[in-house]
Amino acid sequence: MGLTGQVRRLRRRRLRHAVATLAAGVLVTGCAQVSADPAARTGTSSPPPPVSAPPTAAVAQDAPVVTAVPPPSAAERAGLRSDEVVDRGTGGTVVVPGSAPAPTAGRERRVRVEVEGGLDVDGQAFADFVLETLNDPRGWPSDGWTFSRTDGQADVVVVLASPQTSAAMCRPLQTFGKLSCRQGPRAILTMYRWVHGTDEYAHDLTAYRQYLVNHEVGHVLGHGHVTCPAPGELAPVMQQQSKQVAPCVPNAWVEPDAEAAP
Ligand SMILES: [Zn+2]
Repeated sequence: MGLTGQVRRLRRRRLRHAVATLAAGVLVTGCAQVSADPAARTGTSSPPPPVSAPPTAAVAQDAPVVTAVPPPSAAERAGLRSDEVVDRGTGGTVVVPGSAPAPTAGRERRVRVEVEGGLDVDGQAFADFVLETLNDPRGWPSDGWTFSRTDGQADVVVVLASPQTSAAMCRPLQTFGKLSCRQGPRAILTMYRWVHGTDEYAHDLTAYRQYLVNHEVGHVLGHGHVTCPAPGELAPVMQQQSKQVAPCVPNAWVEPDAEAAP
C-alpha cells in the first residue's frame, strides 16, 4: 500500500517534470545535467499548461501514463529538490531510514546515510544514489569491496551537510564549506559541491557526484591521495579532482573499464 502510494507520488512528480521538460523543448530531454543548471531551471520556470489534457477514458487505463514518464533528472537522482544551497541547516544530521543487503560477495562494509536537517533534500533518493555508486562494478567493488546499507551501526557513514556544518564536522581540516572530507568513518559531502560540482565537471554533474562519493569513501577504506599520472590520462579517483583535474581528464571510477551497472 505504502509502495503504491510512493509510486503514485513519484509518477505525479515525474509527470510534472515531464510537462516542464516538454515545454522547454527537446534540447532538455536526455541532457540530464542541464536541469541541475540554475540558468536552465529559471528558463523553464513558467511552462504553459498542457493544451491537450488526456481524455478521462485514457486516464482510466493508467498504462499510457506510465510509458510517458521520463527518466529522473540528474538533480532528482542526487536527491536535490532545489539548487539552493543554504549556508547552514539545523546543524545536526538525520539518519535516512532503510537497509539493504550487500549485492555481491566481497569484503563488506555497512553504510549509513545521513542528511543534515533543514536541507531541501530527498534523503531516500540521496541514499539510493550513494549505494548505487558504491556498488557499481566500476567503483570499489573492482577492488573486492561490497556495501550493505543500514540505519544502525555502520562502518562507513556518508553525510550530506551544508557548507557551515560540513566545515565544522571536517575540522581540524579547513574546508571553508567548499571541500568535502573524511573524518574517521565519516565521508562528509558538502552541499555546495553536491549542487554545483566543479567547472571541470560542469558537463556531467552526475559523474562529479559519483566521483565525490567514491573519493571520500575511498579515504574511509584507507586510501590516500594520488596525483595525475600523465597529461590526457583518466584522473585516478583518489586524485583531488575537486581542486583540479587537469592535465588529466575527469573520471569518477576506480576501474573505469569494468562493466557498468545495468
Ligand atoms: Zn581526498
